[in-house]
Amino acid sequence: MNTSFMSTALGIHGCEAQRIRYEDKRIIINIKTKEERLKCSLCGGSNVIKYGYVIRDFKSVPVGRREMIVRMKVQRLKCNDCGCIHQEKINFAKEKHTYTHFFAKLVIDLSRISTIKDVARYLRVSWDTVKEIQKSYLKLHYSCPDIRNTRRIGIDEFSISKGNKYMTIVVDLDSGAIIHVGKGRDKNSLRIFWKRVRKLGIQIEAVATDMSGAFMASVRENLPNAVHVLDHFHISKMFNEVIDRMRRDLCVKYKKSQLISCIKGSRWLLLKNGSDVISNNKMKQKLEQALSINKPLAQSYYLKEELKLLWRQPSKEKAQTFFLQWIEKALCVRDPAVKRFAINLKDRMKNILAWYDVHITTGPVEGINNKIKTMKRMAYGYRDQEFFKLKLYALHTNTNAFSG
Ligand SMILES: [Zn+2]
Repeated sequence: MNTSFMSTALGIHGCEAQRIRYEDKRIIINIKTKEERLKCSLCGGSNVIKYGYVIRDFKSVPVGRREMIVRMKVQRLKCNDCGCIHQEKINFAKEKHTYTHFFAKLVIDLSRISTIKDVARYLRVSWDTVKEIQKSYLKLHYSCPDIRNTRRIGIDEFSISKGNKYMTIVVDLDSGAIIHVGKGRDKNSLRIFWKRVRKLGIQIEAVATDMSGAFMASVRENLPNAVHVLDHFHISKMFNEVIDRMRRDLCVKYKKSQLISCIKGSRWLLLKNGSDVISNNKMKQKLEQALSINKPLAQSYYLKEELKLLWRQPSKEKAQTFFLQWIEKALCVRDPAVKRFAINLKDRMKNILAWYDVHITTGPVEGINNKIKTMKRMAYGYRDQEFFKLKLYALHTNTNAFSG
């Protein structure tokens, strides 16, 4: 085999092919280093003598549809200059790997368009081999996200299993990149991130979070000068949960009454955008039926619709007036959960209205959450948390992201 072909097609330099044969459906190419290239791997001197050898197999890129194995006679060398005895250095594979650099590169290329499972099957290697190749690539490029230009961040959590296991992610709201992944959803989950922010002297100007007490306290403590905005989607979602709980309680209450038909099946109508419902006569009728059986439910429903307008006021001052009026109305609803929600919101007025200073939301984090759900479906699981973390860091770069 021609030396330049070996070098350009297989990434093997300074070796000569001794024999090529076809065996067990594989092409096997026997190679050895050219005599004049044998060097001491410690001092680099050429004054060496052969001191035995081992035969090692390396998986190479396939030729057409045929698997190819590079079988190398790896020399042990004794150096006359420095006296050491070493195995010769291999320049086309990492020391302990059983595949060539070119093979690893092919795995990376294929990983951009195929799942780990498919790449492994196509190249006839184990799932773990493909995963390990992906992992070392990701480690090299993503293990330490660059946060030097980060100014605005979003913090959110996502569940990693049906139990109570959570992870916290920090997203750069301008680049869309995940810049931190922490275990859990308490203040410890952010500890390493704050440490990096301090160490690098990063000036974070604005933060969006949900109403989680742990995140709020953590931001207050670590970024006292940043504008802290409470995400409006989360606020609306929380109020939706209050309404949904009222609906469920009513279902239980009217279980044996005729009124159950009014409330049953109304969940979606109650939580959906009001404008979508009233444009459909049948839906509108069903909604009105549900609201007619319980006054607090009806009041809360209209409060939910009204709350959306909080973020559509012409100015922060108008928004504040609107907000306080809304709170007053909510406090009049005869339902303890609604009252609690209103008090909770009032306590956080400053951070809610901060949206008028900086228009940020944790929306990009939500988008990422959906991608994570897909990743979970692809069954990477969380067996290897470091790998999962690296995959999250690489998510935003379309060119480098792996399929699935
Ligand atoms: Zn030497």
